[in-house]
Parts: sequence; structure tokens; C-alpha cells
Amino acid sequence: MKKGKKLYEGKAKIIYASSDKNLVIQYFKDDATAFNNQKKSTIEGKGVLNNRISEHILSNLSQIGIKNHLVKRLNMREQLIKFVEIIPIEFVVRNVATGSLTKRLGIEDGTVLKEPLIEYCLKDDELGDPLIAEEHIYAFEWASKKEIEKVKKMILRINDFMIGMFRGVGIKLIDFKLEFGRVKLNGKSEVILADEISPDTCRLWDSITEKKLDKDRFRKDLGDLIPAYTEVAKRLGILHEQSNVTAVNVTKLSSVKKKSK
Ligand code: UDP
Repeated sequence: MKKGKKLYEGKAKIIYASSDKNLVIQYFKDDATAFNNQKKSTIEGKGVLNNRISEHILSNLSQIGIKNHLVKRLNMREQLIKFVEIIPIEFVVRNVATGSLTKRLGIEDGTVLKEPLIEYCLKDDELGDPLIAEEHIYAFEWASKKEIEKVKKMILRINDFMIGMFRGVGIKLIDFKLEFGRVKLNGKSEVILADEISPDTCRLWDSITEKKLDKDRFRKDLGDLIPAYTEVAKRLGILHEQSNVTAVNVTKLSSVKKKSK
């Protein structure tokens, strides 16, 4: 697949055109940002790990019938994906209260929620991705009621599946962020899951020790982000147990699974 011109550059990814107008190439950068872009860094190897972890999760979701934008992983840092019209909403799904929820409502950190909570944020960096009500989505026509009903059903299935997948490898899925986009299928618009699902977009705690295995290691200056993401990849069976991943050699390991097949 030939890489065309750069179409869009975000905080952690770049989108390039491909030779097929319905498909684009998603490149995972090593850049890390937090607190609405106020904190920035480059963490060597992060993009490679997120590419692999997101590929793993999205292809598993595909197998349970959750349509998503992934076509295939192309190499260490790139995926071929369907070109979607992104819905300008970040859908935050929470199983345990932490992060902005605890600060906003004074809820104790670590409170287990009775049922999953879906929050909506407007995708707008300049405004700091403000929290919105479902009614705002309809008032400003960011998505239709039919689309949001479908998205909510998909979210609950995704959450159930991911809780189970992570629980099986000793990880608690605390919360995560999803994005959805529209594609045209036989002339009809359809909503599918888009973007990435990785330790950059999820909070993942070790089930026993509650050690953070996600981007909070960067947000909270805890260090050892690459070992934590590598641990997630190893537990999911993406990297072999014996792989000794460091920031420097992580790029070499990206082909380990393929070779061993
Ligand atoms: N999240 C994300 N991108 C964002 C905002 C949030 O991926 O722009 C994810 C985040 O990693 C966490 C969940 O959404 O898994 C809930 O984030 P929260 O609102 O608590 O974020 P905070 O403001 O504490 O960073």
C-alpha cells in the first residue's frame, strides 16, 4: 500500500492518504501529551507498543462483531484503516472512579461504580475537551439519536469484552476513551469504532497490586512507562514472556510474534 500525503497530524498519531480513497494509513508516534497539551514528551517505543496493543484489541473486537476501522497492521508503526468521518465526541467509559471524575464530583478515588458510566466530551483541544450532556449532542447535531443509541450499545459490549479480556490477564479495566466515525456502506451511513484502544487511552491497574500500567505513569511522573506498556503487551500474549523490552530495543521486538508463527 503506497503512502500518500499527510492528511492530519494529531498529538499521538499521523494520518496519511493511501492509494485507495476509502482507506488511510495511521502512524503511531512516540509523542506523549497530557493536561490538554501542557505536558509534552517523547517516549521512545511507545508508538510501536500502542500499534500492537490496539491492533490486538480491535481485531478481537471485530471477531465479536464490533465493526471498526482497522483493516490491517502494516508494520511496526502503521495500520491501514478505513477513512471515517469522525464524530466529534470522546466517549469516556468508567468502571471505577478515578481521574477527572473524582476531582469534579469529590468521589473517592477507586470507588467501584454500580454500573458502567458513559460520559461525553466534545473533541475540541482549544476548549479542553469539555464534558457535555447527551442533549448537547442532539442540540448541536454532532450525532443523531439513532447513532448515539447504536454507539451506547456498542460501548457496553466493548466494555464487557475488554473487562473480561483484561481480567483474564490480571488487569483491572478502570476506564477508557473511545471514538466513533461514519463510513458509507452501500450508500448508507454506518457508525463504526475508530481511533485506538491502548494504554494511552485506557486506565489499566494490576489486579493485585493496583500498579498503574497506563498513561498515568506519564501524567503523574511515575516513570517506567515502556516497561508498563510492555507488561500489558506480554500479558495479552502479543510479546513473548522472555522478551526483555527496553525503550531502545522495543522496536526490534515488534516483529517477534510474526516470526514465531
Ligand atoms: N482519555 C483519553 N483521552 C483524552 C481524555 C481521556 O484517552 O483526551 C482517557 C483516559 O486515559 C482515561 C479516561 O479517558 O482512561 C478517563 O479520563 P479522565 O477524564 O479521568 O482524564 P484525566 O482528565 O484525569 O486525564
